[in-house]
Amino acid sequence: MNPLSRFSPLAYRASVAALDFLLPPHCPGCAVTQPVPNQLCAECFLACHFIAPPFCRVCGVPFPSDQRVGPAGLCPTCIAQPRPFAAARGALAYDGMARTLILRFKNASETGLAEFLAPLMQRAGADLLAKATLVVAVPLHQSRLRARGYNQAVLLARALARRAGLPLLPDALVRTHATEKLRAATARSRAETLSDAIAVRPARVPRLVGQNVVVIDDVLTSGATLSACAVALRSAGATEVYGLAAARVPDPQLRPAQASRLVSLGGAETPAGKH
Ligand SMILES: [Zn+2]
Ligand SMILES: [Zn+2]
Repeated sequence: MNPLSRFSPLAYRASVAALDFLLPPHCPGCAVTQPVPNQLCAECFLACHFIAPPFCRVCGVPFPSDQRVGPAGLCPTCIAQPRPFAAARGALAYDGMARTLILRFKNASETGLAEFLAPLMQRAGADLLAKATLVVAVPLHQSRLRARGYNQAVLLARALARRAGLPLLPDALVRTHATEKLRAATARSRAETLSDAIAVRPARVPRLVGQNVVVIDDVLTSGATLSACAVALRSAGATEVYGLAAARVPDPQLRPAQASRLVSLGGAETPAGKH
């Protein structure tokens, strides 16, 4: 959360102007000075890889080619185990440039990046947002929230809800215990750990009943976190659960040497990670 936003609107605008003077707007990809804050320079924008079809119709993971699209348009993971969420989408492939942006967004207080990422998410998730009736965010554990000072998923959810004209319930979900060791865990144990780690706040249950909920996160990896959110939300009475993330990690099973069909701004198909 921008600490300046606690001030009155006039004081806020004056503070932002003063900060802009001291710290001119810069590209969050390469730090070059920019005329507009929270926008990428042309070179960094061209280095972004936007996820484009073909992708798994459920989890949104990109397929490397039309030939790799599985039965019913599903990826191997979604075929092996039905997901508790209806569909998920990511805007950017989580490779070089997207990783730089997300890490700065999360760890370097570049919170204004939410205004850059939200329109990309809105475009990638247009079909989900058309059916959604409520926006929620993947929760951070309290200890991590204290250390970081903000939940990046809430910032994205707020920007997206405003743009899509949907109601926002930023504290619908809560982490019941820290999940620091998850990265080293296997997919199965990760899912089991997460299913215990995310719950609906009891006071928020009435707001969730009968809703089509879209869960916002910065990065969609295996889908285990989104699945845990979906199980909790559906247990609380949500009708359908969707996921929407700024970036999507490609499935290593679907990442051959030729790389994914991902689209750079120029419209040309470029190999993932080659820039
Ligand atoms: Zn740049
Ligand atoms: Zn899938």
